[in-house]
Amino acid sequence: MLDFSIGLGSVLNDYSLRQLGRLGIQTVGDVLGYFPRGYQDRRNIPRISQVVAGGLQLATGIVASVTEEIAKNRVSVLKCRIGDVSGSIELVFFNQSFLKPVLKEGLQLVVAGKVEINSYTGSRQLMVSVLDIIRTEVDRRMALGVIVPIYPLSQGLYQSRIRAIILAVIEKYVGQVDDHLPLWIRDKLNLMPLNAALKELHLPTSPALCTAARQRIIFDEFLRFQMTLVEKRQVRHRETTDIRFVAMHPLVDRYLGLLTYRLTRDQSSAISDVAGDVTSGRAMNRLIQGDVGSGKTDVIAAGILLAIGSGFQAALMVPTEVLADQHFRRFSEQFSQLGIEVILVKGGQRSRERKAAMARMASGDALVAIGTHALIEDPVSLPRLGLVVVDEQHRFGVMQRMKLNQKSMTPHCLFTTATPIPRSFMLTVFGDLDKTIIRELPPGRRPPQTVFFPLGAIGKVWELCRNQLAAGHQAYIVYPLVEESEKVDLASAIEGHVMVCQEFPGISVGLVHGRLASAEKTDIMSRFKAGEIQMLVATTVIEVGIDVPNATVMVIVNAERFGLSQLHQLRGRVGRGADRSYCVLLGKAKTEVAQRRMDAMVQISDGFQLAELDLKLRGPGELLGTRQSGLPHFKMADLVQDQSLLNLAHRTALTLFERDSELTRVENASLARWYRSATPFTVETRLN
Ligand code: ADP
Ligand code: MG
Repeated sequence: MLDFSIGLGSVLNDYSLRQLGRLGIQTVGDVLGYFPRGYQDRRNIPRISQVVAGGLQLATGIVASVTEEIAKNRVSVLKCRIGDVSGSIELVFFNQSFLKPVLKEGLQLVVAGKVEINSYTGSRQLMVSVLDIIRTEVDRRMALGVIVPIYPLSQGLYQSRIRAIILAVIEKYVGQVDDHLPLWIRDKLNLMPLNAALKELHLPTSPALCTAARQRIIFDEFLRFQMTLVEKRQVRHRETTDIRFVAMHPLVDRYLGLLTYRLTRDQSSAISDVAGDVTSGRAMNRLIQGDVGSGKTDVIAAGILLAIGSGFQAALMVPTEVLADQHFRRFSEQFSQLGIEVILVKGGQRSRERKAAMARMASGDALVAIGTHALIEDPVSLPRLGLVVVDEQHRFGVMQRMKLNQKSMTPHCLFTTATPIPRSFMLTVFGDLDKTIIRELPPGRRPPQTVFFPLGAIGKVWELCRNQLAAGHQAYIVYPLVEESEKVDLASAIEGHVMVCQEFPGISVGLVHGRLASAEKTDIMSRFKAGEIQMLVATTVIEVGIDVPNATVMVIVNAERFGLSQLHQLRGRVGRGADRSYCVLLGKAKTEVAQRRMDAMVQISDGFQLAELDLKLRGPGELLGTRQSGLPHFKMADLVQDQSLLNLAHRTALTLFERDSELTRVENASLARWYRSATPFTVETRLN
């Protein structure tokens, strides 16, 4: 048996091979997996006289004449008239001079494109987006009277040509494709056999079957990915670690005694989850997901205390310096009462400070190191590292998570995020982690009242700020950029600061942005926290984690520039105390999507709902940002549209490894081979 990576030499001539090579197609498997980008139903093509303007139209006819015009902007416009017994129509090709000698009189074409009425002549024109030239019987059979696959192409290759090539490969090989899915999976989920699916995708017979075929391929893509994650998690669960913490150390109780509030039920059970992990003898890998303000910091603190209480070191990594400072202050204050040392490590530190911090960490004494990514950069060494916590995990790339994991032996890892992660991402990017969700907010919290104002209504916003300041509260004003850019006309934080100062004489207004020196940032944030600064003009450096419960107003300028999840994070900076709070989105919603996002912010306070919506409106890349590089690339599957198949694949992978943890059972042999081979299909065949 051979895997299907056999070359195409046995079915194709050199010329075809070169053409395919340009599309990156070299093997039988490449051809079978070169899926159409869409389909056209050509079972009933209208007569040319019946072709009407508007929408995508199909036509077929014989070439009568071809002319080329070069427009003023040097664009070539090729005009070709085709006709049938009922009449004729003009086809228009832009910038495709190479077609001129090809479109010979008497040749039959099948075309698709938008039909418009030429405003001068009043006649119909079809702007060609798909062209088929009928030269042979095979061409005719594949392009007329059937549902036709439309392939992504490079210049110089025609739909008819690639279809003929694919037909040849399918006829010879598709029967030999080995279906790697065992029958128990295929039957249970009612999935199409693989060879039938491949055939249907390339030579569709009906829309319904074609959909079923797509589902089969998408399921396979998801299944492979889910199997990787489930296997990883299974391996991890089996790995033992020598790092065992003492369960519920008295330090935790003493810490809880320092708090002025009682933990919510969800906070307590999150702490139990963590305690369970770190005493199990296996390395913890847990993600705590809880909306902004749900009190994740106390869970982190408890985890750290379990490590320290058991004689280990703990590291707490955060995405921004501002947040590192805040955690450092908070933890130092509380932990000093418990006799625990806290150390800060961040990029902007003076080297003497840094050296001192390093020396303390290298001592191996049980202490807490808090820092930005500087914490994982060499040569930071924590010889007794027992716990790594990554706060606001979503702001770090997935790669960074890996790097941290490998740092010491196998420390316990705890991740937190306030970005509500839609379930589909949970299953993809974070599928290898155990999860705890904090659903409950501390009692008495009311979600910030959110309003959307056009930029012109800024007077009203200032009035709201004045009222809140008069009541002793504080306000954030967030701008999207640091400096006015020539290209993008956005109000900048620096200019905004000047404006706010003028508008509020006698009020102390601070400015914080990413380009400030580290010490300056620290200083401004601590004065804001202490209430010395009443209004803080900021860029998104304050987006995550910042906790100043006395602040009750969040004004976001040019709110339409931000994603929903980001807006939700920013909004989460207020409403952290018992007082009524406000979030003002200021901007202009130019597009319908922008308007829908603003409306959603006003109406929805639940972060999960917002994230799902953001995913639908802006797609996965935007939602997680470029920082989140861990999204897999799927050929056909779509994380948003195909969520139900993703769930199916996830459950299937779980069942599979539960029944056959090493994939050694006979009925799973093909599946195991496929899974380990990293190719999409296997073809059982002999080369000849
Ligand atoms: P996040 O989950 O966003 O990290 P924090 O841990 O910063 O939330 O907590 C937000 C605020 O709520 C803090 O001011 C914290 O002191 C307070 N807080 C946390 N837990 C409780 C609780 N159970 N009851 C009342 N206030 C709480
Ligand atoms: Mg937090």
